[in-house]
Amino acid sequence: MPDILSLSKDEVISALSAMGEPAYRAKQVFDWLYVKKVSSCEGMSSLSKALRDKLAVQYPFPVLTEKIAQESKDGTRKFLFALDDGERIETVFIPTEKRATLCISSQAGCKFGCTFCASGLGGWKRNLTPGEILGQVLHVMRAVRPTPVTHIVFMGVGEPFDNYDNVLKAVRLLNDKDGLNIAARRITISTCGIIPGIERMASEGLQVELSVSLHAASEAMRARLMPVNKKYPLKDLLRACRKYAETTNRQVTFEYILIKGLTCTPQAIDELSTLMRGWLSKVNLIPCNPVKEFAYYPPDTCAVEEFQKALERNGVICTLRSARGQDISAACGQLRHERHA
Ligand code: SAH
Repeated sequence: MPDILSLSKDEVISALSAMGEPAYRAKQVFDWLYVKKVSSCEGMSSLSKALRDKLAVQYPFPVLTEKIAQESKDGTRKFLFALDDGERIETVFIPTEKRATLCISSQAGCKFGCTFCASGLGGWKRNLTPGEILGQVLHVMRAVRPTPVTHIVFMGVGEPFDNYDNVLKAVRLLNDKDGLNIAARRITISTCGIIPGIERMASEGLQVELSVSLHAASEAMRARLMPVNKKYPLKDLLRACRKYAETTNRQVTFEYILIKGLTCTPQAIDELSTLMRGWLSKVNLIPCNPVKEFAYYPPDTCAVEEFQKALERNGVICTLRSARGQDISAACGQLRHERHA
């Protein structure tokens, strides 16, 4: 039985009609779930007690028990949830002056083993259901009220394109005007470079933002940092991204990690500029966040600025991601599927 937040609008309609309920009931249920954001069927007070009970038994809410909620000195908030089978996931709320972004997980653990990222350390456990993905959003929306969540990024634990169907179902519910009504352009899916996922996304007709974790501008360096490069080499990945941009007419953002002595070199500037020039692409530089198990460090601030300026001189559109929540291990690459002591 799916959890209630895993049901599409059509599935809610058919579930209710199977219970002998009229079609308008589905709208009411959606309203309770995504507008009033109740956390149990019990709270749906305009429905009869009998119907609430029936729903609760047949379509329970996904279990997301908040185990720990930490707040960084910069206002970033990290939530650790336990799922019904004991797996753990993390979700990060990142408010700034202009927007409030929620970084959500798509899997418990990760199988891709990027050499700089803590999320793969415990291995891969399982896919999250659409409801467990949406459950993170609803839980945090309730917790941070009245601050609205304006943007969603699939940049927590896991690889969204390794859980494609559930992620896309969640995206449609996030985007649905009767669902959470978040504009597609405010939803970003980030991938470590799963080419079939990029190709499928191109045909979805969604205005969702695509981010690709590139992190290196040569085959050799990418293979060294990211084992996924063996299956989906840089060259093929770039070809798929250019095709995505041509098909959708949407810009592709490349995340590029700056690791002292490795990815922050003059040679990398030339190589990256060559890859990016002349098409709808953009680079988001991320100075490496420290993870205690890895001996990778960020370059000093001057080197980061130099790198950015040099790319810009070469005509590359380029932004710098500021580290948020480092003091609570909530920054990029610091999330885990389990909390290590
Ligand atoms: N699996 C997807 C979603 C995770 S997004 C993906 O790889 O895109 C998390 C982002 O943080 C990715 O771009 C990832 O490469 C980056 N990241 C991982 N470890 C990091 C670290 N130590 N410092 C900075 N960024 C890191």
